[in-house]
Amino acid sequence: MSFEDLPVAVGVVFEGERIRKADMQVELGGPKIEKKFELVVTKKMNEIEDGKVEIIGPDLKDLEEGGAHPLGILIEVAGKEVEEDLEGVLERHVHEYTNFMEGVMHLNQRYDIWIRISKKSFQKGLNTFKLMGQVYERLYKSELPIIEKIQVTFITDPDKIAEQYDKAIIRYDERDARARGLKDEEVDVFYGCTLCQSFAPTHCCTITAQRYANCGAISWFDGRAAARVDPKGPLFAIEKGAPIDEYKGEYEGVNQAYKEKTLGAVTDVCLYSAFEKPHTSCGCFEAIAFVIPEVDGLGLVHRDYKGNAVNGLPFSTMADSTAGGRQIPGFHGVSIEYMRSPKFLQVDGGWERIVWLPKAIKDRVYDFMPENLRDIIPTENDVSSIDELKSYLKDHHHPVAERWVETGAAARLEEEERQEEIMPAGQQTQPFMMPGQMTTMVPATGGGPGFQIIFKNAKIYAEKVIIKRLDQKGKKS
Ligand code: SF4
Repeated sequence: MSFEDLPVAVGVVFEGERIRKADMQVELGGPKIEKKFELVVTKKMNEIEDGKVEIIGPDLKDLEEGGAHPLGILIEVAGKEVEEDLEGVLERHVHEYTNFMEGVMHLNQRYDIWIRISKKSFQKGLNTFKLMGQVYERLYKSELPIIEKIQVTFITDPDKIAEQYDKAIIRYDERDARARGLKDEEVDVFYGCTLCQSFAPTHCCTITAQRYANCGAISWFDGRAAARVDPKGPLFAIEKGAPIDEYKGEYEGVNQAYKEKTLGAVTDVCLYSAFEKPHTSCGCFEAIAFVIPEVDGLGLVHRDYKGNAVNGLPFSTMADSTAGGRQIPGFHGVSIEYMRSPKFLQVDGGWERIVWLPKAIKDRVYDFMPENLRDIIPTENDVSSIDELKSYLKDHHHPVAERWVETGAAARLEEEERQEEIMPAGQQTQPFMMPGQMTTMVPATGGGPGFQIIFKNAKIYAEKVIIKRLDQKGKKS
């Protein structure tokens, strides 16, 4: 496939390219834009005008430089072997193919897309969506020969996006619902995906009937269809093999797949836990399950959530701690659909361990939450700090409050409250959490060079930390 007639190069070499704000010509979608989407829809052969690229609204060159703009991408495809089951997987290729373009960065998926075009590529001539449409057309047809016809529509007119956005959300929901009802125990094969390894080299998704892909874009059925029509592609079958622990979701076949696909970086995974050998997290996850150690519970926060979660941290900060293809106990990338699964974090207590989530997520999964918990898990409308959260959970008899007694957390809570009387709130030290890596410098006494201590994936728990000042001779002063 040749792209020599285009003003920018196209190829796998550009995957993983980051476009910083200072270098971008425009941003399309992203956190500042409420409604954006990408959608692939299958059609009949006679419904497609092959090769057509339509732009509804201002073209790239007419968008204000440096600004964030709404965008909808609608790709319609047809072919004798193209079936509706493939839509989710075909749509996920938008991420890959957009990133193949020199100076173009694509993050996330579905209703959450975030694209940046670099100034350099814009100045080279990538100044119209027509060119992007041509790239999609050529890549889809050459990489996935089952696609015989394709037409692409870029929408930048906000009113038209709003119209199409609602239809796209319905389409996503219908796809997600298709996989519900099938149980992991009933299948011998799961599906793996390594599409995100360009950004997170040790990441591999295991997509089961009851654990939707982290990005929320690929179901077990999508994986099955993709592995069948594109056997050399990023989605592949994983024979479950013998269960090591079925309740935790640990299987010999899955562990073997991780060893192979991550070149030994990840060797064992429990599919239904955020703490014990957790599934890896790339960077495309729809939401994060994050530990709140003060209450021994887990919070949930999604990518679109504006402001800080109950622990005082925004999604972006926690995403940094979660992403990268690592297994970080207590920081776990998940999809919204997985929250609807009966297997959702079952090793950790499932919904009984969830202590906070944004109202927007609660509205989406409310009917799937256990009835007794629906109204006792607070949102940002109920609590806005850890202290308020503790009181709320205690007052509403949330199941984690019982764990406090079992684990001694109640005693710690009382101690904290006692300390609060001595030292006003805000002046106390916070629990120490450091996923990833922490480096600390220890200076030498006597003016020498000192030394460096590196903690990798450290989990530190201390009943008490005592810091004593020493004089030059190492004596307490
Ligand atoms: S998040 Fe997982 S399933 Fe989704 S594209 Fe990335 S690797 Fe594939």
